Amino acid sequence: ASERLYLGMDFGTSGARYALIDKQGTIHAEGKREYPNYMKEDSLDWALSWKTTLFSLLEDVPVHLRPLVSSISLDGTSATTLIIDSKTGEPLARPYLYNESCPDALPLVKSIAPINHTVCSGSSTLCKLVSWWNNDDSDKKSTMLLHQADWLLWLLHGQLGVSDYNNALKVGYDPEADSYPDWLLSQPYAQLLPTVKAPGTSIGHLKGDIRTQFGTTDSIAAFLAARATKPGKAVTSLGSTLAIKLLSTTRIEDARYGVYSHRLDDKWLVGGASNTGGAVLKENFSDEQLEKLSEHINPMEASPLDYYPLKSVGERFPVANLKMEPRLHPRPESDVEYLHGILESIARIEAKAYMLLKDLGATQVDEVFTAGGGAKNDKWTKIRERVLGLPVSRATQTEAAYGAALLALKGFQ
Ligand code: ADP
Repeated sequence: ASERLYLGMDFGTSGARYALIDKQGTIHAEGKREYPNYMKEDSLDWALSWKTTLFSLLEDVPVHLRPLVSSISLDGTSATTLIIDSKTGEPLARPYLYNESCPDALPLVKSIAPINHTVCSGSSTLCKLVSWWNNDDSDKKSTMLLHQADWLLWLLHGQLGVSDYNNALKVGYDPEADSYPDWLLSQPYAQLLPTVKAPGTSIGHLKGDIRTQFGTTDSIAAFLAARATKPGKAVTSLGSTLAIKLLSTTRIEDARYGVYSHRLDDKWLVGGASNTGGAVLKENFSDEQLEKLSEHINPMEASPLDYYPLKSVGERFPVANLKMEPRLHPRPESDVEYLHGILESIARIEAKAYMLLKDLGATQVDEVFTAGGGAKNDKWTKIRERVLGLPVSRATQTEAAYGAALLALKGFQ
């Protein structure tokens, strides 16, 4: 068959993956590469490592399927930032990684941005830009800011200086007005900001008729993978921490809780992240123990144990209290009861998280899909159904690369 195929690529923290799907969403090929550790002077040359991985992954796509690829979409880690030469596209400085913080720029950023704006965090793209602007004394005439996904897509389509509104959110782009705000445009470094388009709109052509689509961020791509496409559908990620994302018709933001909204077409993807989650389970139990002990839990029975499982002091969402202490006492003699208490308590925090989003004005959640290591625990799923009062199931697809492939498919239609 000469069916069209759609390629999604996900550039994560330690490596990159690809997924090749057809229009039904069936996977025809997938693969993974770790980033090679190229060095430049004394540090890792991330840009070269990503670039090499991009072309390695493209070569990993089976030769007989390559001619069928109609479009490509790519996601990168949010707030991973490159300052490049706007003539050659070459990085002028070491990339700033997603989790890197530039607290030196925070006072200035806070003085220009609206109170509690998403950019008012040391790791925001804007703080990275301001920090570079103030500390680098090179000639800044032909420089440009790109996000990781923008830069990697440029290697494919050759049009320098384009981004999408998911990636641009943390540099200060207003996805609702669909423009950069005046407080940002009046800054001397505004000339470095990329043009912004909707994620998944066609950006250019590779050879043949392969269209490249705009990028997005890794967390958006992971949400898209779960195919939660209607308002009220949500994805809870039960990994080391607990993160929730809900598709809403309204946009909500509250920096106290670290809650903000990404635009997805005419809807909003609202999210928040708690410090509770699997990390506490991992401290107490091996994965095998988790499985064995869970078998003995009766999920229909509510555990009376009231914990707040945290690995260290401090919580942001759904309770904003940087001094909150972990609460894991009293510990019953039975490990089954103890685990039941922890799972039940995390479920209560999850319920509180969805409640908070509703109180802040988001669409009410009506169904929850689950991703991450905790998704495979059916007893926990049952406990959560009871505590949340909602249907809960495991997301069939959770790979960001799969979500990026769906974006490539959507962009092609
Ligand atoms: P990360 O956020 O590190 O990517 P993962 O999505 O890989 O996390 O999930 C790992 C977490 O899942 C660990 O903290 C582990 O304790 C938890 N986990 C593993 N197996 C189970 C299980 N059967 N029930 C509940 N949690 C589990």
